[in-house]
Amino acid sequence: MKPNFITEIIDEDLKTNKYGGKVHTRFPPEPNGYLHIGHAKAIYLNFGIASQYGGLCNLRFDDTNPTKEELEYVESIKEDVSWLGLKWGDRLYYASDYFPQLYECALDLINKGKAYVCDLNADQIREYRGTLTKPGKESPYRNRSVEENLDLFMRMKNGEFDNGSRVLRAKIDMSSPNINMRDPVIYRIIKDASHHRTGNKWCIYPMYDFTHCISDSIERITHSICTLEFENNRPLYDWVLDALGAYHPQQIEFARLNMDYTVLSKRKLLELVEKGFVSGWDDPRMPTIAGLRRRGYPPEAIRNFCDGIGMAKFNSTIDVTVLENAVRDHLNKAAPRVMAVLRPLKIVITNYPDGKIEELDAINNPEDASMGTRKAPFSRELYIERDDFRENPPKEFFRLSPGREVRLRYAYFIKCVNVVKDKNTGEPIELHCTYDPATRGGDAPDARKVKATLHWVSALHAVESEVRLYERLFTKSNPEDVSGGEDFKVNYNKNSLEVIRSARIEPAIKNAKPLDRYQFERLGYFCVDLKDSAPGRPVFNRTVTLRDTWAKIEKRINKK
Ligand code: ATP
Ligand code: MG
Repeated sequence: MKPNFITEIIDEDLKTNKYGGKVHTRFPPEPNGYLHIGHAKAIYLNFGIASQYGGLCNLRFDDTNPTKEELEYVESIKEDVSWLGLKWGDRLYYASDYFPQLYECALDLINKGKAYVCDLNADQIREYRGTLTKPGKESPYRNRSVEENLDLFMRMKNGEFDNGSRVLRAKIDMSSPNINMRDPVIYRIIKDASHHRTGNKWCIYPMYDFTHCISDSIERITHSICTLEFENNRPLYDWVLDALGAYHPQQIEFARLNMDYTVLSKRKLLELVEKGFVSGWDDPRMPTIAGLRRRGYPPEAIRNFCDGIGMAKFNSTIDVTVLENAVRDHLNKAAPRVMAVLRPLKIVITNYPDGKIEELDAINNPEDASMGTRKAPFSRELYIERDDFRENPPKEFFRLSPGREVRLRYAYFIKCVNVVKDKNTGEPIELHCTYDPATRGGDAPDARKVKATLHWVSALHAVESEVRLYERLFTKSNPEDVSGGEDFKVNYNKNSLEVIRSARIEPAIKNAKPLDRYQFERLGYFCVDLKDSAPGRPVFNRTVTLRDTWAKIEKRINKK
């Protein structure tokens, strides 16, 4: 990790021996949704710091809200953290395991006169809290005796009261300029929900601000790294631990990752899932780790991206192309090349012997000679990309057109001599071409040049495949940019998924396994879908396009 303001703080603490020379961090997800790319930043930060300083990092589920949390999320989080390449070993913790200790801490605060049971309802509490410009009002229940508070809190625990009828609050300062310090609620009653680990054992549940600092303290965390929006919660974090006289980690805030053309909030992502905008948390358009994985993003690329953007103290929005470029950089070196035709146009090479098949040598990766070569079958009938032919080629279009000669990759020069068209639509449905046998391998002995090299597959050998093309999930760079009464979903990109049912792929990858990644020459990087592929029938997801596409050139020409 590059030096940053967090490593500076840690370096300083090590110098002064603040935590006995130890560094111990944690990643504390709430299991109320799937992890997203923002969490990846926090994961690499916390695990990265621990490993850099020879310290430890805990994975801790912050599972104190039984109404929103589920086992499915716990399992997905473990899977995603492992997939990102991080190991928590035996340091897997659950805040819910601390319920008994947290309860004891609450009793301790009550006994010290620092917490009280309050009978105001949620609306009243809000009303009494005041605003940024107006101080709060003290609750009429604030001065209950320790005995009464102990009795009521115990009865809350025993399930004697209804949800919302009473809460336990820290007794701090209703006129504090920091609203978090105006007697925050630290325990509430939730009677009817079953917790994924403790079942129906508890009728009361501790709030985040109370749980988090105590969990950090119990685990002897040294540096409790969280996102900026918790800056105003830090005084409360410190107050609780001081009031309890407990071991005290240092909370440090950093800027959360925001990225354009997407949303990074579990609540909003859940909405997309529940309202059917996407097929699930792992839809390849989602910024979730599960979605990125299924889309074909390699964990190494995600890590490189997180390293590259660095750590900041101020919020900013990262251009999604930065992430896409990290993926391209990695796959350019790692992904074998193959040929696939997404929208096939048949060509017949009229002077190529019927029934003849040649096995041509194709290079697996020009970036990595050790990946070797493979055989690509060539025959009289081939498919090329529909877009690679224009009957009336515009300026600067150098690919196939009537009378024009082009190179077929690893094969021969071919020339288009006749276009067969659909009688009704007038669309070309088949091209008749001739080939020059002397150009085998792609060069002409007379040194004549062609301006384009096309990819192709042999019609006889190609495997029909489904290919899914993904675009950005939102049409606006800031999906939250909406007019009154609307929300981010109005900016959903209805064209973010295109399914091509009968692409043709080279036979070499017929038996590709889920998550195998390839570069389809000239088209982009593709990955075998994790869920919908069957043996011998891979479905491909487009991970990311190549940098330069004809579409861009065309746009530029049209602008001229
Ligand atoms: P969300 O707003 O998506 O629900 P959250 O902060 O509520 O996120 P948690 O499960 O509480 O989600 O997050 C676990 C950890 O990941 C926290 O330490 C949080 O600060 C960090 N984190 C969450 N979102 C981001 C982000 N966009 N960038 C960096 N870190 C993040
Ligand atoms: Mg949270």
